[in-house]
Amino acid sequence: MAKRPTVVHTITALRRAIAAYRKAGDTVALVPTMGALHRGHLALVRAGQQRADRVVVSIFVNPTQFAPHEDFGSYPRTLKSDVAALADIKADLVWAPSAAVMYPQGFATRVAPEGAALAGLEDKFRPHFFGGVATVVAKLFTQVTPDYAMFGQKDYQQLRVVTQMARDLDLPLKVVGMPTVREKDGLALSSRNVYLSELERGHAPVLVRTLKDSATRIKAGEPIEMVLEEGRAKITQAEFALDYLEARHALTLATVAALKSGPIRLLVAAKIGKTRLIDNLAV
Ligand code: AMP
Repeated sequence: MAKRPTVVHTITALRRAIAAYRKAGDTVALVPTMGALHRGHLALVRAGQQRADRVVVSIFVNPTQFAPHEDFGSYPRTLKSDVAALADIKADLVWAPSAAVMYPQGFATRVAPEGAALAGLEDKFRPHFFGGVATVVAKLFTQVTPDYAMFGQKDYQQLRVVTQMARDLDLPLKVVGMPTVREKDGLALSSRNVYLSELERGHAPVLVRTLKDSATRIKAGEPIEMVLEEGRAKITQAEFALDYLEARHALTLATVAALKSGPIRLLVAAKIGKTRLIDNLAV
């Protein structure tokens, strides 16, 4: 059986483990997650292993990034099988704090990201989200003090926000964005995919198909807004309630009028039944 990674639940135990790595001269990569691990998360761990001597995986379903009506209560929590999966790929340490450890009584400080965090994409539909993410990620960075932090491009706006935050706060680490891991039919892996009924799962790949088709047409010079309008219609026809399908500057997430306005990223979010899915693709 693979050696279990050490699992720590307190700041003291975490600091002790990190200090031992540092004493041995080891570099550290952090993979922040909310658990319910899938191949996308494990790819981040492997990428961390390629860059650093030690990989720390945090598992924390962060209450402050969920609105009251969202799925905080029902979000899948599978710590035992997560630790087993991390043992198989030889992750070193699991940082699994409780909410009381992360936000002790009297907690009163928040990071309020601007720029890409106010792009009118996820922030428009989940106004709590990036304040919660930036605050918890800033805490994870100062708790673990990693050399590298591995994030998925799957959550593209989040990747831009966290990259900017690390830069703005002069945090001495490199944020690394890794490509989205997908199912055979293209659906982006997500912990929330377990919510999909068989019928919904059948419809779900329309998101990535629309992104691919739109990227091809925009690259070929078709007018961006016309391509997006047709894409929006296709997604809505597949039983989705669309939040957005947008073309944005890949770094700033500002709106772009034409192909020449810069590297373009297409971003989509839509709800099917009770499940909200997001995806994105480079043009
Ligand atoms: P989560 O547990 O959903 O908060 O995600 C933790 C990290 O895994 C984030 O950096 C996500 O962007 C990343 N991630 C989630 N799904 C995927 C995927 N399909 N491919 C690559 N990275 C992913």
